[in-house]
Amino acid sequence: MVTPFAAQEQLKALVEASPIPTAIYTGTDIIISMANQPMLDLWDKDNSVIGMPIAEALPELEQQPFFDLLKHVYQSGETYQTKESKADLLHNGKMIPFYFDFTYKAIPGSDGQTAYIFHTAVDITKQVEARHKLAETEEWLTLSLSSADIGTWDLDVVNDTVRWDERCRELFGILGAEVTTYEEALSCIHPADKHMVRQAINKALNPASGSAYDIRYRTVAKLDGALRWVHCKGKAYFNNGTAYRFAGIARDITAEVRTSQRERQLLTLVEDNASHMTIADMEGNLIYMNNAAKRLIGVTDTEDITRLAAKDFYSAEELDRVQNQIIRQITEKDGWRGNITLTNKITREEIPCEVSYMLIHDPESGEVIGRGAIARDLRPEIKAKTELKRLATIVDISEDFCNYCDLEGKTLYMNAAGLTLIGFGEQEVAGSNMFAYHSQNSSRLIRKEIMPQLLSEGRWSGSLELVHQQTGEVIPIYKQLFIIRDEFTNIPVAFAGIARDLRPELEFRRKLDDKNTILQNAVKELEFLADSVPSVVWTSKPDGHLDYINKRWYEHGATSIENSLGEGWHHALHPDDEQAARNAWNHSLQTGTPYQIEFRIRDKKDQYRWWLVRALPLKNDDGKIVKWYGTNTDITEQKELQQQKDNFLGIASHELKTPITSIKAYAQVMQTLFTRSGDSKNAELVGKMDRQLNRLNSLVADLLDVTKINTGRLQFNYETFDFNEMVEEVIEDVQRTTSRHLIKKALAFKKELTGDRDRISQVVTNLLTNAIKYSPQANEIIIYTEEHETEAKLCVQDFGIGISLDKKDRVFEQFYRVSGTREYTFPGLGLGLYISSEIIKRLGGRIWVTSVENKGSTFCFSLPIKQSTV
Ligand code: ADP
Repeated sequence: MVTPFAAQEQLKALVEASPIPTAIYTGTDIIISMANQPMLDLWDKDNSVIGMPIAEALPELEQQPFFDLLKHVYQSGETYQTKESKADLLHNGKMIPFYFDFTYKAIPGSDGQTAYIFHTAVDITKQVEARHKLAETEEWLTLSLSSADIGTWDLDVVNDTVRWDERCRELFGILGAEVTTYEEALSCIHPADKHMVRQAINKALNPASGSAYDIRYRTVAKLDGALRWVHCKGKAYFNNGTAYRFAGIARDITAEVRTSQRERQLLTLVEDNASHMTIADMEGNLIYMNNAAKRLIGVTDTEDITRLAAKDFYSAEELDRVQNQIIRQITEKDGWRGNITLTNKITREEIPCEVSYMLIHDPESGEVIGRGAIARDLRPEIKAKTELKRLATIVDISEDFCNYCDLEGKTLYMNAAGLTLIGFGEQEVAGSNMFAYHSQNSSRLIRKEIMPQLLSEGRWSGSLELVHQQTGEVIPIYKQLFIIRDEFTNIPVAFAGIARDLRPELEFRRKLDDKNTILQNAVKELEFLADSVPSVVWTSKPDGHLDYINKRWYEHGATSIENSLGEGWHHALHPDDEQAARNAWNHSLQTGTPYQIEFRIRDKKDQYRWWLVRALPLKNDDGKIVKWYGTNTDITEQKELQQQKDNFLGIASHELKTPITSIKAYAQVMQTLFTRSGDSKNAELVGKMDRQLNRLNSLVADLLDVTKINTGRLQFNYETFDFNEMVEEVIEDVQRTTSRHLIKKALAFKKELTGDRDRISQVVTNLLTNAIKYSPQANEIIIYTEEHETEAKLCVQDFGIGISLDKKDRVFEQFYRVSGTREYTFPGLGLGLYISSEIIKRLGGRIWVTSVENKGSTFCFSLPIKQSTV
């Protein structure tokens, strides 16, 4: 059994060993009968307090509830237990607050009365303090957030709910619920920004793309539709790579955005203003320059304006004035206005400007912080003034009548030409009324019609009459009137007029009319003349359309004159001739060369008659064709005669051929007989006869050829032959007929030719015999051939009588012979060259002559090497 003493000892040992501060009190005076070291440490006492009443040991607790509590426990026997109770204890002479969870446990004795009080205390001061600090911090945070107008929000990602504070709810325009759904929160965002916000949130919630969330967007209040700009910042919290929370703050930046928008608008206004604006600091360094100013002084957009030096855009002289005079005045008088010449940095052009300088003050301190300048480019104004001056000079010296009157008609100005026109002196005109120098009719018109129209439409133009102040002559004029308005009020103040003297014009018109009458008469006379000639006379426009045909046409033509104009005459043409006529006419129209053709036209009796049609172009001074003049001559009879002649020639030459051939045969027999009998004299005579017969034969052959050509019966035998060989043969034959001339040859053409060998040799013979015939004094003929790409060319040159220029092209005509006295001495029919040219043309070649009278001629032809046999 344990004795009370032993029990006490055991208790003491227990108490002392306990790490928890423990004390035991006894008696109504609450005597500390036991206290372990932790408790003594708490009290900051040593063990001398043991055995003392507690009030004595810890007098500092006097004003605190503990003594009463202990007494109550002792007396009542009820245990007292409390948490987080505060006790101020004296430590190192200072009262320090502590917090305890403690128990006063009444331990009853055997008598049922309290034997002692068991006091245990746990020091929780640190925890309490920490909690207090936390609470304080939280409070401070809330306070600072609310003072900074910042709201907080907290998104529960798992449940899709948002918890937000009041400020935040206000910013989103939702009142009431502290927790809403995520969707509802989103519905407060401005529709235009919603997508962007969603994207930003998704990005923040994605662990891969980072959790930072910093965004500005608009909200539209649910309640009243108010628009706000908010700036949200937040952060997502992740657990094992999954976001479970997303929280942050929101701040109202509406005012900031508005201010910056306003600033931006203001800046844009300044930036794009047409005036040239610059700001410099007080040291004169440029800190701002708007676009207009940059353009004016040649600063590029990319250039750093702070690096510009004043000398870049001031001439040395102007810089001196600015630095030494103007800047002083700006400072002294709080600004300056005047003219300055700026210099364009790139072009060095000097630009006169009107510049206003002003000082810029700090709005808060009032201190001067810079200088602003607004410049106006004076060039347009100066130009306008110069223009105006020039205009005034022009008006002054203008030959037109110029005047300027107020709305009552009082003359304010009249130029020299005006004064002369109406015979006024400068003094007389000053103040004179315009109605004084206009005719009565014109004055009435001005008052009644012109003035009202001027006032409503601003201008009028038309004919009026002036009256010469000395002679009283009425001068017709063409006048233009304009209203002049006040530059600022736009109210009409005067009108200006310009007038042209119409007399020279009227005179000119009268003369023109006279001339026209004369001309019309002349045309009539001409038409009369044209009608009286026996031929058809016509004219055509440059495009070939007939615009006049005289009456003769009507007498012959099957179609009326009206129907024949333009291109109507084509219808009367013989179908066989139409194409050739059209081609020739078009050729002449295009080349301007004379038109000459023969064709058949149907007459009234529906018979075709032959016409020779000729037309010549009339050209103006520039060589441009203005008209074609043509005549048609009826050549039906000539044609018929020619036909008869051709028939006759055909028959005659054919009939002559047979007897000539017989005579020739007899002559040859006779020559043989005479020669044999030794009668050489007669043999020679018969030989001469034979040569004459040869000539006769060739004349008849020529005539036959002509009739064949004219009737289209000339036949060709095509073959491919050695051209030069043929030429050599001809030379040999012809050379034999002359002892005077030597035929020299230079035959460069070496190829074969396709064509009618005999007919071509006939041409060469003809050219050679002509050369001999028409150069009786010369003793040399040259014949040469050349090769020209696809052509063979042959020329025969003589040194004889030659042909005059005007006749040389006619020698190829039928029966044409040059009709000089000399030429008559040469025999011939004028057919050889005609036949030759027909042959060459039919073979697709050309024939021509170059000749100088008395010097000689060169006849040439060219033929295509390859013949197309037609
Ligand atoms: P003709 O039988 O008259 O010689 P052509 O047709 O051969 O006929 O020649 C026509 C005219 O051309 C000749 O009458 C002559 O006046 C002129 N003529 C031809 N050849 C020459 C020439 N070589 N030199 C000068 N005149 C020539």
